[in-house]
Amino acid sequence: MNIDIIGAGIGGLTTAIALQKKGIRAKILEQANEIKPVGAGIILANNAMQVYDHLGLRKEIEDGGNLVSSMNITDASLSRISSIDLTYFEKKHGVKNVAIHRGELQKILVQQLDKSKVELGNELIKVEKLDSAYQLKFSDGSSTTSAVLLGADGLNSKVREYLFSETKIRSAYQMCWRGVTNFTLPKNYRNELNEAWGKGDRIGFVQISSEKVYWYALKTFRQDQYSVDDLAMLFQNYHPIVKEIIRSTPVGAIHTATISDLEPIKHWHQDNVCLIGDAAHATTPNMGQGACQAIEDAFVLSECLAKYGLDHPAQAFSEYQRLRMPKAHQVVNTSWTLGKVAHWKSSLAIQLRNQLMRMVPPSINRKQSEKIFQLASV
Ligand SMILES: Cc1cc2nc3c(=O)[nH]c(=O)nc-3n(C[C@H](O)[C@H](O)[C@H](O)COP(=O)(O)OP(=O)(O)OC[C@H]3O[C@@H](n4cnc5c(N)ncnc54)[C@H](O)[C@@H]3O)c2cc1C
Repeated sequence: MNIDIIGAGIGGLTTAIALQKKGIRAKILEQANEIKPVGAGIILANNAMQVYDHLGLRKEIEDGGNLVSSMNITDASLSRISSIDLTYFEKKHGVKNVAIHRGELQKILVQQLDKSKVELGNELIKVEKLDSAYQLKFSDGSSTTSAVLLGADGLNSKVREYLFSETKIRSAYQMCWRGVTNFTLPKNYRNELNEAWGKGDRIGFVQISSEKVYWYALKTFRQDQYSVDDLAMLFQNYHPIVKEIIRSTPVGAIHTATISDLEPIKHWHQDNVCLIGDAAHATTPNMGQGACQAIEDAFVLSECLAKYGLDHPAQAFSEYQRLRMPKAHQVVNTSWTLGKVAHWKSSLAIQLRNQLMRMVPPSINRKQSEKIFQLASV
């Protein structure tokens, strides 16, 4: 029996690789006509890198990106208010956090799969449950049936829309700009992720290769959204490095979006269909864990399918949901709150918040990451 995966994002690709390693046949159906590199970076935290280590991809990903050994929150002048030393987790789990260009990661993932396993130009528009299969309809008028279906089709998942009743997408009312620029950070910033919090806005930046820096900036909005042309003005009170990073990025290369997540849903599977990644638990990006959680899904689901066999996918899906849902939802909820706190606007509240955060002992910060970086044992 074959598994059909809808979507060739990080979740779908990693799942196909993990299943291939287990000798389980899977095919990806992707709407795009080509897998184009997204002009942004991504941070693969320790939990994601443990999975890639397991899949034999750790070295290639490390070589394609840049190692990150601390994650810091600072004020707009880059004075630290909180920090997580990642070297403790590097020793504990034997892998490092890596910041990498998304295009580079996609290339590494796609290369692991036989070309026939990723079918492009298949935009799913409708799914129907038949007696013992699913009928998939595509925008070019074609259709096919699937015995076992995985929805890895992101926040606006069609698989979720047609086969699952609950779905509430929430806007965080935050604009987000992302860019990659030719830039080399001063030495002391080269192996760190720094996220600077201002008043109702913030900006994060990290070296992703010897000559490239990835940055993301967010700003709260009400009705009227901001334009990319407003960026320099919006971040004019930040540290000169921040302003230089923005200035050095061609406007046409800046990706603009608004931030949303999926309010936690109770069911990720029924019969022979199951949701993974953003389709199941899209989160705001405030903990840098969305893709990492999708990567964990890929690992746990492939282990469960190998354990229970394809004759009993429902059992594997149920175990996958039991093992993955509490942590994924914890990330969604914590990230949602963090995004609000990061964008406070009152000067007094900001001052108090920063003072309190500076007082939190490193052991508490470490404890919070401990749970996130621990993989489930199947
Ligand atoms: C600003 C920002 C920064 C982020 N930074 C980080 C970070 O540093 N670390 C981290 O871990 N996460 C980060 N994330 C989150 C991360 O990008 C997502 O969680 C992750 O990409 C989800 O992967 P996915 O494969 O589940 O979904 P997606 O990446 O959305 O992929 C879905 C795929 O399905 C395809 N598809 C969709 N609909 C259809 C259809 N109808 N038919 C066929 N194919 C379809 C799409 O074309 C796409 O290829 C960030 C997110 C944002 C917005």
